[in-house]
Amino acid sequence: MIIIEALKAFMKKPFTTKYPLSKKKPAKLFRGKHIFHKDKCIGCGLCEENCHSNCIKVDKEKKRIKIRLDTCTFCGLCRDVCPVDAIEFSDEFELSTKNKDDLKVE
Ligand code: SF4
Ligand code: SF4
Repeated sequence: MIIIEALKAFMKKPFTTKYPLSKKKPAKLFRGKHIFHKDKCIGCGLCEENCHSNCIKVDKEKKRIKIRLDTCTFCGLCRDVCPVDAIEFSDEFELSTKNKDDLKVE
């Protein structure tokens, strides 16, 4: 029996991919790097108030936000509470960098 299972597994395609040469498209609801739609933001501050990681700062006067991705947990709350859909998530997940200052969305 074990040999049969081993032979079956041998005939199957591997589940792994040759990343980064070939990349799988993330799942439909995947939460990658945020996209901030400046034109929609009304500066209400709800995203900052609801961020449990305290990684969003809102400039209410200028209607701008700054998200620090190095402390973000990608929970999605900021997107969910935004009344004007100014925050969405992209498929971008390759965020490693040597410079922490690159890890922000504004
Ligand atoms: S995804 Fe979650 S942790 Fe990240 S900025 Fe939004 S609310 Fe904060
Ligand atoms: S919740 Fe939306 S509209 Fe309000 S400050 Fe954040 S991004 Fe702007």
